[in-house]
Amino acid sequence: MLEVKNLKKTFGALTAVDDISFTIPDGQILGMIGQNGAGKTTTFRLILNFLTADSGEILWNGQPIKKSDYDIIGYLPEERGLYPKVSIEDQIIYFAQLRGKSKKEIKPQIDKWMEKFQVKGKKTDKIKSLSKGNQQKIQLIATLIHQPKLVILDEPFSGLDPVNASLLEAGIKELKKQGASVIFSSHNMNNVEDICDHLVMLRDGKMVLDGTVREIREQFGRKKLFLETL
Ligand code: ATP
Repeated sequence: MLEVKNLKKTFGALTAVDDISFTIPDGQILGMIGQNGAGKTTTFRLILNFLTADSGEILWNGQPIKKSDYDIIGYLPEERGLYPKVSIEDQIIYFAQLRGKSKKEIKPQIDKWMEKFQVKGKKTDKIKSLSKGNQQKIQLIATLIHQPKLVILDEPFSGLDPVNASLLEAGIKELKKQGASVIFSSHNMNNVEDICDHLVMLRDGKMVLDGTVREIREQFGRKKLFLETL
């Protein structure tokens, strides 16, 4: 279970994250929506310890997240970080090794994952030969293959066509079944409504909405919610 309590982060005069709190129990999915600059990526970087908070707490199963916890985290960054000249297989193994897995463990699983996300290509193909959508799917596989318990996906749907978006949606729902705590960000409500147990909306670093999708729809009205996130 991930608990974020009263998190705050400033950059000079700008408060990028302003008193944000939420909890993601095991097997639950939290969607974080907000426009550009709302504070989504900064929140993720704080959870990941890439940035230090000015104040607030981030707890994983009741304890602060430590470097040694990194193996349980799967992170899909907004700026995708693949190496164009390496093969699909080597790329996936490289990321898994960063999370403490061995080549021997990961190699036999690659075909299954490529099939699951319908990657068009052979595992010996170089990353640069793949379409953007397929590269994104490789990055997603690299994020998930070590079976993380805490999954943080920054704008995972951006740039995906509807077919790939539904594959991703199914993949996220499967993580939930496996008991992972999942958080993902999005600019808008597309893909969010059908997947999330809980939703938060950020604006200028502040949480302006917080609840189940149903509660928020009732409280706010569906149409208005869409307009808000345009
Ligand atoms: P986007 O969807 O555009 O990525 P976001 O919701 O992820 O938006 P953040 O990237 O968290 O937003 O940015 C929140 C605010 O903090 C923005 O005003 C941004 O310019 C600012 N910011 C983020 N990182 C830094 C930094 N390292 N130094 C200074 N300002 C920063």
